[in-house]
Amino acid sequence: MHTHTAPLHESLREVGDNSWRRDAACAAHPAPDLWFPENDQYALIAQAKQVCWQTCPVRRVCYNAAVDSRSVYGVWGGRTEVERRDFHRNAKNVRRDRRRVEARLAGWNVSLSERERELLQRRALELELDVPQLAAILQVTEHHARALRRKYRDAMWHAALSPVISATRTNPPTALPLPVHSTGKAA
Ligand code: SF4
Repeated sequence: MHTHTAPLHESLREVGDNSWRRDAACAAHPAPDLWFPENDQYALIAQAKQVCWQTCPVRRVCYNAAVDSRSVYGVWGGRTEVERRDFHRNAKNVRRDRRRVEARLAGWNVSLSERERELLQRRALELELDVPQLAAILQVTEHHARALRRKYRDAMWHAALSPVISATRTNPPTALPLPVHSTGKAA
């Protein structure tokens, strides 16, 4: 099992860690229904959002939790379901938080978007991790990790060679002069 090599950033949480809810401003609020208004209950929405934005210490974590769990209903992280809709639709393409990628490299099981997963894969391959480590960090089989590493190395090899190949095409080596015999004519 991969061990953590660096502390987790305070605004991030591992998958399944709901301890942040203990600090949620809405948890102690006398009217928890405020966070599940109808779309046209503007006064209630405004009240809920005010609590989120002005008093809640875990607003950012709450917002990310909604995105990661694809929770569609209610006010999360100070945003209504309508305001979050576009982000929910596009979250897999939009979020690119390097802290999350670094946390996964350090062994923390934080949730990643598709873009963050791409970045993680690139970073892990650049670090030349061994196959078991690579598989653990990317959460893939060792067979798949080995194939990824081979593909990456092939790509690096070709990238390193391509300037040499293109230089050879642009400036082909000049032909060796033909041997000249005593008659002065080329053989
Ligand atoms: S940001 Fe709002 S919804 Fe989220 S935990 Fe805080 S008060 Fe509750």
